Amino acid sequence: MSGFDSQRGFGVYVHWPYCARVCPYCDFNVYAAKARDTAPLLDAILNDLEGWRARTGERRADAIFLGGGTPSLMSGAQVANVIAKVGELWGLKPGAEITLEANPDDAARFADFGAAGVNRLSLGLQSLDDARLKFLGRTHDAAGALAALQEARSKFRSVSIDLIYALPNQTAADWRNELSRAVRLGADHLSLYELSIEPGAAFFQAVKRKNWSPLEDERAADLYEITQELADAAGYPAYEISNHARAPEHQSAHNRIYWSSGDWAAVGPGAHGRLTTGSERLAIVAAEKPGEYLRQVAANGLGWASVDALDPLAQARERVSMGLRVIEGFAASDITELGLSLDAARLTDFAAAGLLTDVKGRIALTRSGRLMADRIAAEISP
Ligand code: SF4
Repeated sequence: MSGFDSQRGFGVYVHWPYCARVCPYCDFNVYAAKARDTAPLLDAILNDLEGWRARTGERRADAIFLGGGTPSLMSGAQVANVIAKVGELWGLKPGAEITLEANPDDAARFADFGAAGVNRLSLGLQSLDDARLKFLGRTHDAAGALAALQEARSKFRSVSIDLIYALPNQTAADWRNELSRAVRLGADHLSLYELSIEPGAAFFQAVKRKNWSPLEDERAADLYEITQELADAAGYPAYEISNHARAPEHQSAHNRIYWSSGDWAAVGPGAHGRLTTGSERLAIVAAEKPGEYLRQVAANGLGWASVDALDPLAQARERVSMGLRVIEGFAASDITELGLSLDAARLTDFAAAGLLTDVKGRIALTRSGRLMADRIAAEISP
């Protein structure tokens, strides 16, 4: 272990925890926006960034990601402040990716975000069907989503859209039709997620009360196959389990830092970060509730609520689970250098089942293997 490896990348994640309305499928750390003064939160985020800078030492940032929550509820000036602060503290590499996650309802502010320095917009379309958008509790309709996409394409060098599939009663023909329309919209990047019912989300209670039933696993797996085929044929090959880009330069550089086990400073309520210094790699979580976060930053100059040192084996397991997400997989030598021996018998079994390939020590999942990435990662790195 030799400290931070800049090849793995360094990014800055900013969590803006407010949303116009909390979606019933969401289990993120989010709060209804209401009418509130967000100036104290912005100040805390800027102070937290300074605290992180004191810990990381000098590095240049490959990417900034404003996520949430709904950071498109921020003003252009707030976004500009965050970007300027990161530039001042660390400096940005030339061409650094600066992403903001946006709700289509906030299209009127896209020009301001572009002027603030955002160059990649990730737009939460979720569906092109009004009834499904309503089911998902979204505040926009399909027409609004398409108008927002056009606006985004004129303002940012790269635009990603998110869609959710495997909704209750969604047929293969429904999804084929919706995705066929989506790939013709001219986005640079597609994030295509299967609906999952998370314990912290309102949908979990709805399913428990038997208001509706989730799609069966087998049908959801069929929709995943359709997703891969159709996106591939339309020129959006998958580069990760749920992510597709029309060219390598449109892949998410920030998410690549996660998948390569790089480092990222993470500010804002409940943000998770990683910091490697010397022989230590820390998993850091900021105070979750906005009020606690403000108090934490005021008291310590950092929002950190929990800090865990990852031992080499935990780091190796994280490299496996992250590395298996991307199509090129990971180098086995990257794991053994941390002292973990991969389970050779399980590797052979998964390869024989057509779920994994091992080419000259580079281990990657096949398309069907990616459907069960978590299980495979756990079994090969005991
Ligand atoms: S899905 Fe997105 S917009 Fe909806 S509550 Fe979660 S973070 Fe907010």
